[in-house]
Amino acid sequence: KSDLVILYHRQPYEEIEGDDGRVTLKENTSPNGIVPTLKSFFGNAERGSWVAWKLAEDPSDPGFDRVITIEDSFGSYRVARLPLTPDQVKSFYHITSKEAFWPILHNFKERYNYDPVDWPTFREVNWAFAEAAANEAAEGATVWVHDYNLWLAPGYIRQLRPDVNISFYHHTPFPGADMFNVLPWRKEIVESLLACDVVGFHIPRYVDNFVSVVQSLLDVEVTQRRKVRPEWINEGTALSERSMPTEIEFEGRTITVSASPVGVNVDYIEEQAATKATDAQFANIRDELNGRKMILSVGRTDYTKGGIEQLESFGRVLRDNPQLRGQVRLLHVSVVANRGMKAYQDIQNELEQTAGRINGAFGTFEWQPIALISRAIPFTDLVAYYRAADVAWITPLADGMNLVCKEYAASRIDGDGVLVLSEFAGAAVDLSAAVMANPFSARSMDSAIMQALDMPETERRDRMAALRERVRMFDIEAWAKDQTELFRIASDRRRAAN
Ligand code: UDP
Repeated sequence: KSDLVILYHRQPYEEIEGDDGRVTLKENTSPNGIVPTLKSFFGNAERGSWVAWKLAEDPSDPGFDRVITIEDSFGSYRVARLPLTPDQVKSFYHITSKEAFWPILHNFKERYNYDPVDWPTFREVNWAFAEAAANEAAEGATVWVHDYNLWLAPGYIRQLRPDVNISFYHHTPFPGADMFNVLPWRKEIVESLLACDVVGFHIPRYVDNFVSVVQSLLDVEVTQRRKVRPEWINEGTALSERSMPTEIEFEGRTITVSASPVGVNVDYIEEQAATKATDAQFANIRDELNGRKMILSVGRTDYTKGGIEQLESFGRVLRDNPQLRGQVRLLHVSVVANRGMKAYQDIQNELEQTAGRINGAFGTFEWQPIALISRAIPFTDLVAYYRAADVAWITPLADGMNLVCKEYAASRIDGDGVLVLSEFAGAAVDLSAAVMANPFSARSMDSAIMQALDMPETERRDRMAALRERVRMFDIEAWAKDQTELFRIASDRRRAAN
């Protein structure tokens, strides 16, 4: 049995299908991203387990290994794989998670699609995650549940295993009561989350929203501890930096609700930025630019990421500032992640049409204003683009945190470069040295990008130094330290109660 069980809907490795149709598992060796960070927690655990789903045409197939043991650079851990049929995946993931929850979490009420939701299937899948977690967990283990796809899992785990510590981390924004309560299953979801010992979010605003939702639905006592404990200042973690966590009392139990921003692995990114290979790629990109300025935008193809709003803004800026024509290029990387989902395909088509229209209106034989890339760029290459970009333009309409902007700052070992950041990215809380933009305002978008392009070097360097300091302060290690502290708070409280 394991003393740490992580529930994350994705498997902790890549599945590579060979020409013969055989699937091999490959460790993603890049320490960038959340999966390696979560796996690193296994290093502190006696034994670790990971629970994820895996597509299975026939879940009763005896050849399907439900539990496997993985040995990789993080040591040895178990992976419990829940076989989901294509219909279950469609219902649980594409419909309930992506068409109903995702728009509500990101404040897009008009995109919320309730009709096709099959709630019994959502419950069933969450129950399967909970059962697997209950099977894997040792007495008093910590079970760590990730993200909104598994909202119902904590309540089920608590029914099956009253002895374990349950922590939940939300990787998305959390909306206020006016928005969240649109979901007809709101009470069931919130009651499940209150079966946790700890519920974590990126930023204090999401904590406040969660608390307001809970208060609107249930009879709870809330203790807001927004005071900084002096002895905790400067320990370099978000928990100590900003506030004591909030506590909710519900049905005789205490739930800690905290804000702690996910960060990036700054040491690794700085190392990548300084390799010979990156130097060479950087030189190629600058050669290709031929003295022109480069604006870089990177994100998934998703209506929350604000790609269309950026392209429209770039078109207006070129229209109104003829002196910029031929002098600046926009590299717009918009990775299609959810192939086969209409909403995402529509966005992709719209991006292509908009970029095509602007390139047609202003481009010449020698100069295309926009280069649109819709495939994922390997991280090691992305770092070279980060280093080469005069401006990183990261303006989502809503984003839980946004790591791209932090990676950009971490890559700028030269201390130069301008970040234009949306006020509506969670990262904006810590990165106030960025040029802030409101992606819902054409005027704000246009003036922010102009300000970035015109910014004198001293101001660029001052702002970048401040950004780099914050990105380092709230790096992935600080986040991990916060989570460990929260696990400790939860298990101390449980021990004291028994
Ligand atoms: N990314 C990448 N290649 C690409 C585009 C993105 O490796 O072509 C990575 C990027 O480096 C970042 C992640 O994808 O680590 C995106 O994370 P973020 O939090 O910004 O957005 P999310 O997609 O999780 O909403």
